[in-house]
Amino acid sequence: MYRAFLVPASCPHEDCGKSLLSEEHPIGGKPSVHLIVEKKGERGDIYLSAWYDDFRTILPDKPNILPGDIVKLYCPYCGKELPFAERCACKAPMVYLAIESNGRVRICTRSGCHYHSLEFSNSAELQALLAKAKK
Ligand SMILES: [Zn+2]
Ligand SMILES: [Zn+2]
Repeated sequence: MYRAFLVPASCPHEDCGKSLLSEEHPIGGKPSVHLIVEKKGERGDIYLSAWYDDFRTILPDKPNILPGDIVKLYCPYCGKELPFAERCACKAPMVYLAIESNGRVRICTRSGCHYHSLEFSNSAELQALLAKAKK
């Protein structure tokens, strides 16, 4: 059964690893996931809902991101681009974020594409995250 839970996302680069959660821009009453978005060389701050399966996003004024646009995403702390994970079904690149307990969440870089997935190296880690989310 579906149960909403929060993804405690952090930077996937080992020398950074900072939490990307932003208390200042809550979505759904919880901190959002803060990233830098780039389109055609222009950059702005983007905030994604940290609720898994919730696609609410706070978009920047600039760049103007339209549905279907493929963007680049960067860590706001170390400035590095999020690493490529695989091609999405929509053909855009998917990148990944780290989450607590060595899991990953993959997200599509096409605006409006709602394909994403969670990946854990073992199911115990997923269970631990779900157990925490219930509290
Ligand atoms: Zn970083
Ligand atoms: Zn996609």
